[in-house]
Amino acid sequence: MDNKKLADLLFPDVKLTVEQIEKKYPKRKLKPGAEVTRFAPSPTGFMHLGGFFQVLIDYSIAKHSDGVFFLRIEDTDQKREVSGASAVIMDILTGYGFTPDEYELKGGVTVGEYGPYYQTERKEIYRAYAKKLVSEGKAFPCFCKKTDGLADVELKRQKNFAQGLLEEKDPCRNLSMEQIEQNIKEGKKFAIRIKSNGDGKRKIKFNDGSRGEIEILQNSKDAILLKNDSLPTYHFAHAIDDTLMGTTVVVRGEEWLPSYPLHAEIFEALGFKQPKYIHTPLIYKFNEKGNRRKLSKRKDPEMDMRYFEKEGYDKTAVVEYLLNLINSNFEIWRKNNPNADFREFPFDGFKITTVTPIFDFNKLNDISKDVISKLSAEQCYEYLLNWAKNYSIENVEYLEKQREYVTKVLNIDREKPKPRKDIYKWSMFFELFDYMFGAPKSFEIDESERKNYEKVLRNYKNYLVLTTKEDWFNNVKKMAGELGYATDNADFKKNPNKYLGNVAKVCEYIRIAITGRKNSPDLYEIMTLLGEKEVLRRICAIV
Ligand code: GLU
Repeated sequence: MDNKKLADLLFPDVKLTVEQIEKKYPKRKLKPGAEVTRFAPSPTGFMHLGGFFQVLIDYSIAKHSDGVFFLRIEDTDQKREVSGASAVIMDILTGYGFTPDEYELKGGVTVGEYGPYYQTERKEIYRAYAKKLVSEGKAFPCFCKKTDGLADVELKRQKNFAQGLLEEKDPCRNLSMEQIEQNIKEGKKFAIRIKSNGDGKRKIKFNDGSRGEIEILQNSKDAILLKNDSLPTYHFAHAIDDTLMGTTVVVRGEEWLPSYPLHAEIFEALGFKQPKYIHTPLIYKFNEKGNRRKLSKRKDPEMDMRYFEKEGYDKTAVVEYLLNLINSNFEIWRKNNPNADFREFPFDGFKITTVTPIFDFNKLNDISKDVISKLSAEQCYEYLLNWAKNYSIENVEYLEKQREYVTKVLNIDREKPKPRKDIYKWSMFFELFDYMFGAPKSFEIDESERKNYEKVLRNYKNYLVLTTKEDWFNNVKKMAGELGYATDNADFKKNPNKYLGNVAKVCEYIRIAITGRKNSPDLYEIMTLLGEKEVLRRICAIV
């Protein structure tokens, strides 16, 4: 077979040579040891939690080594393309402070010299390399029609495979030049497959950046490189793009691990050196029954990074939580450096956990409470307003008009040595503090206590003083004593039957009347913020 002739027959219009292409992608001038990483999502319309995981690793490897982190949009599967999807990804990356050094905005700017950063704009490059492989006898055309997105042979192979018959080589590799010429004349579309030399019974070894040495069976399949729409498969594009764009570390999901042998063969056929790889584990969670299951796009809204935005999670908390999930040292570091910025954490992307990460909202919420508790009331107000502007428009006007009051509400039990840890996302604010924005609609009072509760409230109208916390409490105590409640806790414990309860009980009744709840932040602070008139109004509405 005259391979050169075959290459010209298949790609008569491809004049661009790989030498010309490679000139446009010179080796990057970086200091020794600098790593180049990339995030390479498919534009499916959302930013995956697992993808964000990879971004954290990509970003820190690049930054810690003074390297480069770039964004490449893998849009070759046009059935899955969602318009505007890359904007979603850029929004999240920049929103979290992980802006890539190089990227392209569709119809907008391109930053970086190694683009285009959209794969569909690199079509001519893939075709040139495909032509080269055909001309070297390393690849061949396959004319099998597609059925349900899979070539006939592919379906047959899958059936065979299921029956344990491993028939790997593609029948089209044996077509004669005449048959191929005939097919082309008939206008038949073709895909390009690699002519695999692999032996599917032999193993190859490679070193995964986080998992260490892995042994895996060689590729022996004549896999598709270029689909019959002339666009590359992930495998082919990965080898070409990551080589030309100078990627030194590929961080990707563990679902790509089984394709590693094919990638090794493609890199070899192209004469390229493979980058380092880090395969990240899939994220799981416990279901209601306590069993582990993979996070699913359909069932788990948190798979989409925008969920955290909509809910108003603090971004630092989300990042810290994820760092926690992938690197067990983070928790210890955080304990020893309670006030440091997470960016100071000496994160080693090569030392990520190999233990299955389990997503746990309780843990995320705890971290978030912690992070938010350290913010000033002013900062909280800004975050809350910002969140509302995007996700709770109906509250914006109120928030803007009542800036001072809302900031005071946010300051209840805050800006203290031991601030209260209750808010973990901004969407919970109005519900958590509903009693600061209107009288409660329900009250957590046990029916058996109603008589005592009402008696306390009726009396309290005459004892309400909000001048100082001390006066306020002294008055509550005075009333409590007069109504038969203990004002001294030790005494109450010794003779519980002598009293109706202790002063804490009285405070609880007042708290329920004012906030509807048995538990709330500092009652005096709440009452002073509401003001005497409002407090009285609430009590009078009950008794
Ligand atoms: N587009 C691939 C994906 O979304 C990229 C994998 C990789 O990073 O190489 O899974």
